[in-house]
Amino acid sequence: MSSEIKDLSLSPSGEHKIEWVRKNCPLLRSLEEEFSAAKPFAGVRVALSIHLEAKTAYLCKVLAAGGAEMFITGSNPLSTQDDVAAALVSSGLNVFAWYDSTPEEYERHISMVLENDCNIIIDDGGDLVTTLHSKFPEKIKYVIGGCEETTTGIIRLIAMANKGTLQFPMVLVNNADCKHLFDNRYGTGQSVFDGINRTTNLIVAGKVVVVAGYGWCGKGVAMRAKGLGAQVVVTEIDPIKAIEAVMDGFDVMPMKEAAKVGDFFITVTGCAGVIDEEDFKQMKNGAILCNAGHFDVEIDMKRLREIALSKAEQRKNIMGYQMSEDVWIYVLAEGRLVNLAAGDGHPAEIMDMSFAIQALSAKYLVEHKGRLTEKLISVPKEVDLEVAKRKLSFLGKQLDHLTDAQVEYLNSSAI
Ligand code: NAD
Ligand code: SAH
Repeated sequence: MSSEIKDLSLSPSGEHKIEWVRKNCPLLRSLEEEFSAAKPFAGVRVALSIHLEAKTAYLCKVLAAGGAEMFITGSNPLSTQDDVAAALVSSGLNVFAWYDSTPEEYERHISMVLENDCNIIIDDGGDLVTTLHSKFPEKIKYVIGGCEETTTGIIRLIAMANKGTLQFPMVLVNNADCKHLFDNRYGTGQSVFDGINRTTNLIVAGKVVVVAGYGWCGKGVAMRAKGLGAQVVVTEIDPIKAIEAVMDGFDVMPMKEAAKVGDFFITVTGCAGVIDEEDFKQMKNGAILCNAGHFDVEIDMKRLREIALSKAEQRKNIMGYQMSEDVWIYVLAEGRLVNLAAGDGHPAEIMDMSFAIQALSAKYLVEHKGRLTEKLISVPKEVDLEVAKRKLSFLGKQLDHLTDAQVEYLNSSAI
């Protein structure tokens, strides 16, 4: 066993967090029971890079219960929780991560995972897969395949597949209905405001909230902003998404206009430079900026740091930047994912579904070892439906079922 973490003595606090998650993740609990008996991952080495907090830790324990040897790191320097990492090490899992790692430490931890001849790669954003291809090509022969958690990771995989450089099959977990319809929308919607509220302790009601991007995450964020009593403005580049936003009751305008009126700015586009120098200069005194999309590039932090007259930390995770004598704007969590860098990320019941898809997709890869010809693989429909059915039953809800007469009616127009 090998590890590189901050402090093993923190493990009791991490164990408590994981136990709370276990109690609130019935889907993963059911898989843990099944995997413990059937050991689908016996002899399989799993490399995993996902935000290292308690929900991810429980996924790791479920895979380990199924016989996997786990090699774990985080997927963002600010979302790793040191007590959770310690609890995993205490349970005998290999962990390489700590909170607030430097870029060099973050890369070293990714490499320490990949040095272990892993067979399954579970990635969030593509750091494991890209590093494996660029730094450890000799280790690719051990890989059966992998699973990608998020939208931006999938964009990176598609680019690799189009160039012909992706060397093994990757399951596109984010594209499963039981992932993005709930995780990206309801998970991001709630956890972004959890991060903003606990960090700023400011009122949202009556304020103008600008949401950049009206994809799955943006829809969730805008919906919750409205519920909190904000006036919501959406910025988009896609005309269809923009119409959806209008029909959902939101104002739509370019960022150059929105910059002048917003109190809160939340970027969820997966794009770079969504809020730039020109926008910073238009903003009202007291404007609060944060990001919930991939990477810290949606708000042009580099340029903001260069043009600010001065900067001063206001509270943990709030940095003030002075734009003129009497205008300060504030950025949360250094422009990194606000829900994870300044909060605990999505709620347990949401990650229960996302991670059930992850666990079953990893099992699918092991069961189909050597038989998958495509490089980009959709989550099998039966996996999505199985997760949906179990979730519904844990919610105590039941479906209707088609009668024979209804089946006949629905097929009656077939020629
Ligand atoms: P999506 O593709 O459904 O939506 C992105 C939207 O942004 C699209 O409608 C697109 O037209 C729009 N967009 C792109 N560039 C833009 C620009 N410059 N200005 C305005 N709008 C622009 O993607 P999604 O699933 O909503 O994910 C968005 C990002 O959030 C991704 O980077 C994803 O990886 C990340 N994500 C974060 C979390 C989290 O927990 N914080 C959860 C899920 C996904
Ligand atoms: N490395 C990237 C990762 C993108 S994060 C970055 O830090 O910029 C987006 C993913 O985080 C989502 O797809 C979501 O499934 C995942 N996520 C959200 N809350 C989480 C939580 N509590 N635990 C683990 N993963 C979480």
